[in-house]
Amino acid sequence: MKFKSEILLIIIVITCGILFVNFTSQDTNSKPINSSKKMKDYKVQKSDEEWRKILSDVEYRVLIEKGTEYPGTGEYNIFMEEGIYNCKGCDNPLFTSDQKFESNCGWPSFDNAIEGSVEYKNDYTLGMTRVEILCTNCGGHLGHVFNDGPTESGKRYCVNSVSIDFKN
Ligand SMILES: [Zn+2]
Repeated sequence: MKFKSEILLIIIVITCGILFVNFTSQDTNSKPINSSKKMKDYKVQKSDEEWRKILSDVEYRVLIEKGTEYPGTGEYNIFMEEGIYNCKGCDNPLFTSDQKFESNCGWPSFDNAIEGSVEYKNDYTLGMTRVEILCTNCGGHLGHVFNDGPTESGKRYCVNSVSIDFKN
């Protein structure tokens, strides 16, 4: 009799455990969808769910959550083919290979952007004052622009490889 009730107790504990884990994971899963990451009135409007469908985890982290890829790891960091770099989120042409230069900073760098393709926003995160660059079409985060470029423009558009897609 005692043995039976012990088994019953174990079953109850396991069931509660499963329910608890289930509820907790549902809670964490639903958080990003309800968060206020809603972008302003860009031409391309997608829900959080839609972005997650078309972007990989790392692309989502950079384009939507404004993350940064590790320096020196990006596909286009050391890459000098001739062509156009489009936005990974919406295919908007952003940079040309003529604008690309070797900056040795660990990220693909451009001395200019295709006119009207990029917008600028002051970024005070991480205790720094920087100028964030975003795609004007979808609001996807591309990287930052700095005033230490070596060419005539004086600009260095420091861009995450995962935010762009090369087309030749
Ligand atoms: Zn875009």
